[in-house]
This record gives sequence, C-alpha cells and structure tokens, in this order.
Amino acid sequence: AGIINFCANNYLGLSSHPEVIRAAVEALEKFGAGLSSVRFICGTQSIHKELEEKIARFHQREDAILYASCFDANAGIFEALLTPEDAVLSDELNHASIIDGIRLCKANKYRYKHMDMQDLEAKLQEAQKHRLRLVATDGAFSMDGDIAPLREICQLAQKYDALVFIDECHATGFLGPNGRGTDELLGVMDKVTIINSTLGKALGGAAGGYTTGPKPLIDLLRQRSRPYLFSNSLPPAVVGCASKALDLLMESNAIAQSMAAKTQRFRSKMTAAGFTISGKDHPICPVMLGDARLASVMAEDMLNRGIYVIGFSYPVVPKGKARIRVQISAVHSDEDIDRCVDAFTEVGRKHGALR
Ligand code: PLP
Repeated sequence: AGIINFCANNYLGLSSHPEVIRAAVEALEKFGAGLSSVRFICGTQSIHKELEEKIARFHQREDAILYASCFDANAGIFEALLTPEDAVLSDELNHASIIDGIRLCKANKYRYKHMDMQDLEAKLQEAQKHRLRLVATDGAFSMDGDIAPLREICQLAQKYDALVFIDECHATGFLGPNGRGTDELLGVMDKVTIINSTLGKALGGAAGGYTTGPKPLIDLLRQRSRPYLFSNSLPPAVVGCASKALDLLMESNAIAQSMAAKTQRFRSKMTAAGFTISGKDHPICPVMLGDARLASVMAEDMLNRGIYVIGFSYPVVPKGKARIRVQISAVHSDEDIDRCVDAFTEVGRKHGALR
C-alpha cells in the first residue's frame, strides 16, 4: 500500500486506462481467448488486420506486420531481409534483441561506437563493397535515456546509399510532437525505412510487437520471417488493448505532453538536488551513482519510503556506471514526482551520494 512504481515502461499510463481495459474485455468476449494458430493458418481475425492498418497509419508507413513481441520482430527481420552479399551496421549499445536478430542473419556485420558518427561513416565506407547496407539503431537507448542522432544517421545513409532501421520501443507513443517517435522528434519520418516497436510498453503494456515500413518489405516478412510464420497469433484481448491505445493517441497528444512535463519536473528537481541524470528530455531518467552496492542499497531504501525503483549494475551496464533507472509515467501526479525527489534526496544524503 502506498508504494509508487517508478520502474515500469508504462510511459503513458495506458495499462490502467479504463477505455483500454474495456476494449480488451470487449475483444475477449467477441473474439475469444485465443486463436490456437499462427497467423497464416487460422490465426487472423479482422482485428489483427485492423491493428496492422492502424499501426501503419500511426507511423505514416505503407504497411505493418504484427509479432508476439518486439523481440520476435527483431529476431525475424534481419535474416529475412539480408543475404551474405549485404551488410548491417549496428550501434554497439543496441538492445539485445537487435543483437540476436543480427546474429541470426548471414550478412556482413559492422559494429560502430555508440552514437559515433565518425565511426559510422568509416564503417559505411568499408561496407561500400556490399550489395545493400542497413544501419540499425535503437531510437532511444533504454539504459541511458539518450536519443540516437537520427538526422546525422539519415544524412550518412543517404550519402552512402544505406537503409535505416530503428527500434522504437522506448519512443513510440510519446516522442515527437504527436508521439510518433524519434523519427518525428528529429524530423526524419520520410528518411527512416523500417521501424520495429512494441505494444508492451507505452501502447497499453500488454504484449506484442511489429514492423512497419514499405509494403514490399512487409510482404516479404509475411513470407519469410520465422517468428511470424512459426509462432502463435496475438490474443484478441491484447489486440484490443493496443488498438484502443493507438486510438487515444491519434485523437490527442495531451497524455504524451503531460508525461513530458512530469519528466521535465523530475529531471530539473533532481539536478537541482545535486544528482546527475543521464540522457535528455526522455522519461528514462538514470540517476547515475557509479558504485553497484550504493545503487542497490539506495534502491532498497527508496522502497522503504514507498518508491519502487531498481538499481542497475554490471553486466547490465558498464562497470563503474551503476545507476538507479527511474521511469516517469503520465499517471504520476506532481506530488508523486516530488515525493520521489524527496526520497532520493534523503536516501542520497544518508548513503553519501549527496553531501
Ligand atoms: N527493443 C528494445 C529497445 C527493448 O527495450 C525491448 C524490451 O525490453 C525490446 C526490444 C523487446 O520488446 P518486447 O518486450 O515487445 O519483446
């Protein structure tokens, strides 16, 4: 009782939104508990097609394809798209699912230093000998709350004739003026070719993932992508949640804006209190502490004060860069944010993180 969750990916608070819950119940009642099938056998209902159309419309892309998770979407795309004659260039801090997806494909692999455009350019020059080049990056990186320099990435991609892929799990629904994501935020919606994202974070938080992009690519994935072909279709209730979440976001950007204001409140108050918060303007607010034990005891003490946060240390983050990752949500009130900052200040003083 009285514990506030500051470590969920529920950025917009939609997992407890009454309309989202009602949509799930209605879909469950009307379409059943599940399809007992993959999509291409008897696992496609009208709501699956409608959700794919809605996702494509939301991102202003030609088509979309659903997966059981974004992990699956990332596992399924590189192998289906790239051959041994092609190349994939990946940011060294990309999410594990991108790394695993790339491992599964036979393309030539290049890893560039985190958000380092000089290194990316050098790798693109090296990769000119291949038939096709794909640059793959997280839009927003979940450990640091930093945002990929997509404008520069797209310029380089244009210069060296490469495609751009972004994973928008920590951006869809809230980054950019209309919550379309990192590509909207940085004004490159027409330059990014492929987007993978999740329905399991801001878009209702249930489960599911997708790829959206050019129609021929989506057609190819329906024919060749193994997690799509060989894994069960999304349950109707999950489809209902995500579909309603997208409706709410396409009607208004008020929820995303309220989350942004709360993020700003938390970041500025914590910085004023003397903490270092990594990243910029993102609801992932890593409170940098350095020492792994300090991060863990502080997180424990925060819970004693009713604030649920988790310490991250090696091997999840580099040695010496332990932190408590705070995630802001639209459901937090200003009082919740202030209570969290007060608890951090008390606990930080007690454990010597603040003087
Ligand atoms: N990509 C990124 C950047 C993520 O943070 C996550 C989830 O943690 C995933 C992919 C996987 O998403 P899902 O939970 O839908 O499999």
